[in-house]
Amino acid sequence: MTSPASGAGTAADLPDYAPIPPSALGPALNEQGYYVGRVERNLYWVTDGVYQSAFLATADGVVVFDAPPSIGHNLRRAVDQVAAADGVSSTVTHFVYSHHHADHVGAAFLFGGDVVRIGHEETRRLLLRDGDPARPAPEVTFADRYTLQVAGESVELAWHGPNHSPDNIFIHFPGHDTLMLIDVVNAGWVPIYNTNLSEDVPGYMAAPATALSYPWSHFICGHLGRLATRDDVAVHQAYIADIEASAKEALAAVDPVPFYVAAGENFWAGVKGHLDAVTDRAAAPVIAKYTGVLAAADIEIFTRTTTFAIMQSLRLDRGPSGPVHP
Ligand SMILES: [Zn+2]
Repeated sequence: MTSPASGAGTAADLPDYAPIPPSALGPALNEQGYYVGRVERNLYWVTDGVYQSAFLATADGVVVFDAPPSIGHNLRRAVDQVAAADGVSSTVTHFVYSHHHADHVGAAFLFGGDVVRIGHEETRRLLLRDGDPARPAPEVTFADRYTLQVAGESVELAWHGPNHSPDNIFIHFPGHDTLMLIDVVNAGWVPIYNTNLSEDVPGYMAAPATALSYPWSHFICGHLGRLATRDDVAVHQAYIADIEASAKEALAAVDPVPFYVAAGENFWAGVKGHLDAVTDRAAAPVIAKYTGVLAAADIEIFTRTTTFAIMQSLRLDRGPSGPVHP
């Protein structure tokens, strides 16, 4: 069997990774493949083990927050199950978009009819651009803040600038001691590739501090099998801060000149050699430190690509990218 140089292969080629810390795992799924749990009072969360959604079951109907296609029709089952148990209506009256990404709202179309769709104005613009019938654009939009009030419950939606995506919002449930912020912190796990596939790296790096500036005890982060805590956010911040410090050290320590000399007229070969050396030097101690602390820290490409993204952001966003020619 041969594998391409990238390391890609077949499912049978998966290496033996470090065991997943038990604290990174959540409750068992039911036989339909989902778990629904009470966050606090009438706020519930749903997971398929990888993705998360949430809903508020009020006396006047249900407010749904995100609908990942991987949970799909199980979200409806979870709503029906809870509404029956709580003796409230299972009619979904409102749908809130955390951001426009299809992996979190690609089952939004399942909640049709009279539902009021609410999202950031940039979410609307991006969904109109993308034209995906599975993700109808929200009609109720806001620029900075929006308070949703249903049956005496308040939900505070806020946009604090771009982070994971240009439109990713903070969803605060002041009456439920809960914050929902998707695709920034993965409860107990490292971010996947490139700062969790984020578009604005400085915004992504700053978002956890903004999250911690809200009062809450429960955090719905959008991924994996359990809710997150303030400690989870702090561990994530430490991981990102360690990468930033390590990237700064490596940028200063690795001399680019020998790589460009060796590359000759192939300037891009010099760039690759230099940046690969910086990335390797910066990522290695972070991978070692967090293996066994954050699940999947030993899947090296995740920390390597996140390190590369942060190292490039240090050069391009924060500057300087290099010395000014005399
Ligand atoms: Zn996303």
